[in-house]
Amino acid sequence: MAQEKQPQRKKIEATGQMMKIMSDYFYDLNDAAKSPERKVAWCTSVGPAELLRAMGFAVHFPENHAAMLGATRMATELIPEANTIGYSPDICSYLTADIGAYLKGVSPLAKAYPGIEAPPHPDVLVYNTNQCRDVQDWFSWYAKELDVPCIGITSPKNFTDVSDILIDDVTRQIEALIPTLEEIAGQKLDEQRLRDTVALSRECTELWRQVLESAAGTPAPISFFDATIHMGPAVVLRGTQQAIDYYKRLLGELQQRVADGVGAVDNEKHRIYWEGMPVWGRLRQHSELFAGLQTSVLVSTYCSSWVFPDFDAEQPIRSMAKAYLGLFIVRSDTYKEQYIKEMLKKFKIDGIIYHDAKTCPCNSNSRYGMPQRLEQETGIPSLVISGDLNDLRCVSDEQTRTNVEAFIEQLEER
Ligand code: SF4
Repeated sequence: MAQEKQPQRKKIEATGQMMKIMSDYFYDLNDAAKSPERKVAWCTSVGPAELLRAMGFAVHFPENHAAMLGATRMATELIPEANTIGYSPDICSYLTADIGAYLKGVSPLAKAYPGIEAPPHPDVLVYNTNQCRDVQDWFSWYAKELDVPCIGITSPKNFTDVSDILIDDVTRQIEALIPTLEEIAGQKLDEQRLRDTVALSRECTELWRQVLESAAGTPAPISFFDATIHMGPAVVLRGTQQAIDYYKRLLGELQQRVADGVGAVDNEKHRIYWEGMPVWGRLRQHSELFAGLQTSVLVSTYCSSWVFPDFDAEQPIRSMAKAYLGLFIVRSDTYKEQYIKEMLKKFKIDGIIYHDAKTCPCNSNSRYGMPQRLEQETGIPSLVISGDLNDLRCVSDEQTRTNVEAFIEQLEER
């Protein structure tokens, strides 16, 4: 049995600045919802946020709120509320937790940010089904409940190459959103402002990529568990200067760690790739479990999903279409396997952990033979752990611990 040591994880100093800009973001959203002059849009995580920002909308991301419900361990009790109105316990537990919170009139925002009671009331809901159909169902429910318009992009899926035909399709769909958004915003789309917003998103995404790639250092200066927290600005503030300023600061700190040979985990012995979503309610436990085994979980598909190299201010809408189509989750297994193989090499990975999240099949890549195929091709062993992003009834802590310990022992024997 691998010897478990006292967990040693390094705190990231920039965290305070991140908390501050996230707090400013939530208070601004709250103010926007109360102001007669401002409009609020809800947007899916890889929906057309650049377009919404360029049109002056304050943008709320329900998936971020749902992840907060998971991280605060409020989600599990709220999911049954949505089940009672017809949403199965087997579908997205972001959706069920978020609708459950609305039905119960509770929000983690109220605890974290005094004066904020709930997510901001929307003027419009805008989705992109590039990640899954659940987001459309989720937003459609709110559209009916709150009597607000719901519009969006129906994305192609499961393709290997992002072809011009696909980009044309999504470009046209984004363009078709503009008249409705202009009417709700009460202003015309300013092309220059859109170009500027896309340029800011591009810079943010580039810095976020560098932050994540710093983990190629040995030892890795940042863990997957840190990255799930520090990706907050990349998710909710892309297209703003605040996110760029934050990632410059974070990157500086991580580069210093690399120069000083400081790892996120003391005495790093093993390097793991995490495939799938985090278990939000178990971030701390999982982080401590791996640190205690001198194992760095240092890179993931999930956190890299907010790296969009295709944004181009010269072709704002077309490049948005290309970026949203380039997302890992939208692609075929052929693309995904090639992508993961490159990541395994770049980050010098010893083992892969697949999180099979019960309620998110789209982000669970262990169900159609991928672990076996990748293991055969790369020789890198893998472990599948069963769990969920938000529903802790699907998580067995004991089984996870036993399986992870056995897996690390197997790595040591190799
Ligand atoms: S990708 Fe998964 S977690 Fe995200 S909204 Fe869709 S079903 Fe939910």
